[in-house]
Amino acid sequence: MNGFLNNPSRRIQVAYDPIYAHPLPDGHRFPMLKYELIPGQLLYEGTITEQEIHHPGICSDETVLLTHTREYLDKLHGQSLSPQEQRRIGFPQSPALTTRELMIAQGTIDNCRHAISNGIAFNVAGGTHHAFAGHGEGFCMLNDFAVAANYLLSLEQQQLFIVDLDVHQGNGTARIFEDNPAVFTFSMHGGHNYPFHKEKSDLDIPLPDGAGDDLYLGLLRDTLPSLVDRLRPSLVFYLSGVDILSTDKFGKLKVSMDGCRQRDEFVFQTLYEAGIHCVVSMGGGYSPDVRTIVEAHCNTFRVAREIYQA
Ligand SMILES: [Zn+2]
Repeated sequence: MNGFLNNPSRRIQVAYDPIYAHPLPDGHRFPMLKYELIPGQLLYEGTITEQEIHHPGICSDETVLLTHTREYLDKLHGQSLSPQEQRRIGFPQSPALTTRELMIAQGTIDNCRHAISNGIAFNVAGGTHHAFAGHGEGFCMLNDFAVAANYLLSLEQQQLFIVDLDVHQGNGTARIFEDNPAVFTFSMHGGHNYPFHKEKSDLDIPLPDGAGDDLYLGLLRDTLPSLVDRLRPSLVFYLSGVDILSTDKFGKLKVSMDGCRQRDEFVFQTLYEAGIHCVVSMGGGYSPDVRTIVEAHCNTFRVAREIYQA
């Protein structure tokens, strides 16, 4: 399991494609721009190199169907989501959007392969944890962690661990793996935030409105290492949403930029020391100034680069 620590030529992989920054109608509240700004900033400052960027292909139907229903996938391919289904997702359907979702899911699968020999890999998008088997919601259409986890389990029985630190509960993920002991789901989220009907993760930690750095980081420190020790997962899926920031329009928490950075640092340090492979997807972030969102997401890459020295 600890193979990557002995791999002297290990490197980081960053799944990204220009299709990730999907054009949306004017005034749409989703900050799609971040998907081109994050890799742009990371390349500009030298945190990542062009060689580390991986352009994923399209996830096959066969693989998607290990997680999602045939009926739902047919709607995504056939552009036949009802207006109500599209409203629930929050994006207008289009063939390009379906392609984008399939590429993001494949990016996370490819990242799992990469992480197994190199320790860590990132997806610039993904973390689409509100997608259920048969429907999408909350800007999520296909559940990239679930698709990748079920793909890995179809190859080999193993213990997987989803660490979801986006401010919103990973409701789709919780439901998909509700009866599957091979995937432990942990979600720490705003207790009074969307989704208002919570599903049951293996471990949920609902936070009160206004929770700040001390409470947030204290709970994480009390929880994560013992779970890692107990589960000894072969791979961790880390959802590093930055909507926990005090500046976030929807988050309701009061975590600082540095607190958010310390969160990522703690997750990576814990996993690195335990020799556990990790794939990271970005998740949400809705601060009014897109530079804040990009800075917080870029911190995730920066601290990982330092810790993994890949
Ligand atoms: Zn979120």
